Amino acid sequence: MGNLEAPVLDFKALPKIELHAHLSGSISRQCLHEVWLMKKAAGETTLQDPLIEMPPGKHDYDLKTFFPLFSSYIYNLVNDAASLRYTTLSVLRDFAADGVVYLELRTTPRALPAAGLSAAGYVDAILAAIAEYERAEADKPEPKLRTRLILSIDRRAQPALAELTLSLCTPPRIVGIDLCGDPSVPLAAHLTPIFHAARRVPGLGMTVHFAEAPCSSSAGELKTLLSWRPDRLGHVICVNGGVREEIVRKGGVGLELCLSCNVQAGMVEGGVAGHHFGEWWKVDETVVVLSTDDVGVFGSPLSNEYALVAQHFGLGRAEICALVRKGINVVFGGEEEKARLRKILWEA
Ligand SMILES: [Zn+2]
Repeated sequence: MGNLEAPVLDFKALPKIELHAHLSGSISRQCLHEVWLMKKAAGETTLQDPLIEMPPGKHDYDLKTFFPLFSSYIYNLVNDAASLRYTTLSVLRDFAADGVVYLELRTTPRALPAAGLSAAGYVDAILAAIAEYERAEADKPEPKLRTRLILSIDRRAQPALAELTLSLCTPPRIVGIDLCGDPSVPLAAHLTPIFHAARRVPGLGMTVHFAEAPCSSSAGELKTLLSWRPDRLGHVICVNGGVREEIVRKGGVGLELCLSCNVQAGMVEGGVAGHHFGEWWKVDETVVVLSTDDVGVFGSPLSNEYALVAQHFGLGRAEICALVRKGINVVFGGEEEKARLRKILWEA
């Protein structure tokens, strides 16, 4: 069914699930600007205004310019408990305003010694902000946003940090573990035993950034990542027929597909219409979940990702709703949360 035959959907009002969103990359430029203004007034930063560093309307960050944006700018601006709280609350408000009812936010724990925060303290600060948001919304009627946290291990992580991150992944406080980071960094052998150990933690989901670029898509790396038995795969761009078949054969694997991110970063060819969403969304054995990755950088909220697939791949109302509902199968938030989401998404 083409979208011309279907009634137009209000993609913002449509209750949605977001499963691949990085906390630091989801902060709006306006919010970063507000943090900068407060720090500037307090004499706490020498960084330049984020609205100059990341001009409004600039979204074409590629793999070469994307990672330095964090290491040399955002991490230096959002570097204490107060700015973590402020930015996390802002990110949650933005997702809620876009109609997201369930969010799995991911972040890479980092110690902020100058602010007196250990890596564990960093995670606690974010969990506290999520709890604060949900407390403030407690009396509001459904559907409303519920947020769970995934901890990421960067490909660059040394063994001690990777092990520490795993030790912080205690369900249900943390619902999942992720492998992220610059795909041009080779996958270190010491990560495999850590992810095998993660697989043995009851109730802990696993997702990995998978085949994001040619340099991270060798047969060896993809075989290793699949040997970790991840529940979900992020991006899934550079896969050949054999890997594709293996993913299908596993059955029920979640595919976190990030259209605007991949198009803006030049990771796929042929624009949105050329995105591999077109190859996957009808594959019954997998679960495609549209995701934003870094809405603060790439500028396309989740509602727009749904509008894009309706426009470029001809999904009608029924297909869009089926896509969102199928995503419930691969959330890490547990059976009670799945039941809440089914109720919201079938009644919406
Ligand atoms: Zn990502």
